[in-house]
Amino acid sequence: MKRNRKIVRIDEERCTGCGQCVSPCAEGAIEIRDGKARVIKDELCDGAGFCLGVCPEGALSIEEREAEDFSEEAVHRHVKENPRAYIPQQCHRCGRDEDEVTVLPCRRDGESAWVCTHCLPALIHA
Ligand code: SF4
Repeated sequence: MKRNRKIVRIDEERCTGCGQCVSPCAEGAIEIRDGKARVIKDELCDGAGFCLGVCPEGALSIEEREAEDFSEEAVHRHVKENPRAYIPQQCHRCGRDEDEVTVLPCRRDGESAWVCTHCLPALIHA
């Protein structure tokens, strides 16, 4: 059912297709298609906006518009059918990726970066 709700908006002009926003979306709602990030189905995006902070181009925002209701059932189906629908992100310090370690988004020198939980203490205490 469609109704007015909050959902992620992607500014196509700003998007470079770097893929950094794909991983933070646990629902797998964002994919890179034709070189641009896309919300592939409205029902997969809950509008929580975990992807917003990682975009180096400021291409992501939350808008309110008419969209299909968010569906957990659709998310479970999608994640099951597309277990690798993401680009593994690497820790900017050690280079290990999220398939090996847990990584967290952070900001550094005005840019979005990832840091793994092994390297995080060194950053905190530096
Ligand atoms: S992080 Fe930003 S620039 Fe990169 S693919 Fe996503 S929307 Fe596009």
